[in-house]
Amino acid sequence: MQIVIASGKGGVGKSIFTSSLIYFLKDKFKLVAVDADAEAPNLHLIFNVDNWLEEKSLTGGKIAEINSEKCINCSLCIKNCTYKAVKKLSNKEKPVVNKLICEGCGACKIVCPVKAVTLKEAKSGTIRKTVTTYGFPLISAQLDVGRPNSGKLVTEEKKWAKETADEKTHILVDSAAGIGCQVIASVSGADLAILVAEPTKSSLHDLKRVHKVVEHFKIPSLFVVNKYNLNPSFKGVEKYAEEKKSKILGKIPYDAKVPQSIILRRPLPEVFPETEASKVIKEIGKKIECILKEE
Ligand code: SF4
Ligand code: SF4
Repeated sequence: MQIVIASGKGGVGKSIFTSSLIYFLKDKFKLVAVDADAEAPNLHLIFNVDNWLEEKSLTGGKIAEINSEKCINCSLCIKNCTYKAVKKLSNKEKPVVNKLICEGCGACKIVCPVKAVTLKEAKSGTIRKTVTTYGFPLISAQLDVGRPNSGKLVTEEKKWAKETADEKTHILVDSAAGIGCQVIASVSGADLAILVAEPTKSSLHDLKRVHKVVEHFKIPSLFVVNKYNLNPSFKGVEKYAEEKKSKILGKIPYDAKVPQSIILRRPLPEVFPETEASKVIKEIGKKIECILKEE
């Protein structure tokens, strides 16, 4: 079974929840964890991973390159680059492409009268794999600065996770925030989505947006309210779940020990098993255990 954990809004505690859930399930099932936030991966930090056993570089998109020997310094590429990625350091010097800004659209190549511009395949990022000290494999991605195609990285991560898994292995995908291509790649192909929200209007707003993505793929979803006691009178998430005929898996209280667990680089329930939040996540873990056993 493939389970994706998403939230829409960032900062709601999704990765803390995911790492805790993985911690509870790791001894009961064969798991592969996928950190699908290629722009800001952090699951490896929580699981104390510093070294990777395997790494793969991925290309995606193009970057313009100017052959200064062929270039006649007509400046047409500068005038036609919508993204202002081509610059000259002085009038005498020939133009250069800022690789962090270039979108690979090819306009400069079309207008160049002497064919001095070529479009080259660009590295978009790295995907890496290791086996954590907890015994399960973790696959993570890292998008290069200024590069597009984060969704492609996530798709490749999931492909690698499937190759790593056997038929008894479950895949847990920690999605990025938002509803962009990374999230679409995370959600697509999942069997179940767990959507985490805070008890605030902004979190509910973003939860609804990511839920639309989940609904688009016809994936069943369950909801988790994190830090529920910070705004106990807010029942928006519960009402939305009811409206959608879905269930609230659990309501986790705010836990002041979370920052300490991050400093220690350990999942919350491992270092602070007695906190209320750890206990609630354990109960959620039992519910997921039942779902996985039924599968
Ligand atoms: S490929 Fe497009 S974005 Fe890149 S330098 Fe050329 S015109 Fe600008
Ligand atoms: S359009 Fe071609 S020839 Fe003109 S400045 Fe750019 S690279 Fe050089």
